[in-house]
Amino acid sequence: MIPCVLQVSPANGNRQANAPNRYDGPVMKALLALACGALFASSALGVGSPAEAMPLQVQQWREIQPNKVRFISQIDTTDKVFFITIDDGWTKDPAVATWVRQTRTPITVFLTAAANPEDTSDFFRRVSRYGSVQNHTRTHSYLTSPSTDVNDEVCGIQSTYAKRYDERPWMLRPPYGNGGWPGSATSEHRRISSVVGPCGIKFVVNWTALVSNEGKFASQNGTDRIQAGDIVLLHFVSGLRDQLSALVERGKWSGLKPANLADYLQRPNVAENARK
Ligand SMILES: [Zn+2]
Repeated sequence: MIPCVLQVSPANGNRQANAPNRYDGPVMKALLALACGALFASSALGVGSPAEAMPLQVQQWREIQPNKVRFISQIDTTDKVFFITIDDGWTKDPAVATWVRQTRTPITVFLTAAANPEDTSDFFRRVSRYGSVQNHTRTHSYLTSPSTDVNDEVCGIQSTYAKRYDERPWMLRPPYGNGGWPGSATSEHRRISSVVGPCGIKFVVNWTALVSNEGKFASQNGTDRIQAGDIVLLHFVSGLRDQLSALVERGKWSGLKPANLADYLQRPNVAENARK
């Protein structure tokens, strides 16, 4: 199993000067204690409601810069929804797939290829049946490390995932959140974008709330509630089914229901995919 490394991103110190510093202090420390590399940063580049400005903005942005990658950690929406994302893939509990089928819950799986031998693909297809399978790198490396071959880590697995899951991934979750926060250094964004954009990644997706491997919920808003547009991070660990069930209940208590993250971004069109 990949070790859960608690990392304070150097990007935090390079946050854009005008970005609000909402994540320091006791709440932040508590979140750091819970998360595997969890860092919350500004949502200054957050995206809009799919029903309104977002599709047009994305459309225009793709026409101008087809390989441009956006860095997000939440969805800016007034819809009463939140988004469930599950990372890595080391533990494959069939009860999770059964729960998804019974509850019809949309889940975005950010899958590490090292945890996904071909004969396990059916499990992830079932878990993502109302959502999608996206890229979480080949070996779970730090993307900003000079020794990491970002092209191999991300682009090197795109075709394999496209074959296994019928869609080329267009979202990337950077392991440990490393280099992926909306407010982190633009030089990091540029380096990652220049490599992953040309192989089809459109969004680098981090998170605003998480459930720790022990089942504890923590949010950047410092409360027990989920907020509309929150992207919640979980991992494939034992006990995940109960964590999911509790998370959906927490959503109800917060007046929210899970929605498919892909529906709130925009899928690359088929022609664009085919060229990659
Ligand atoms: Zn991970």
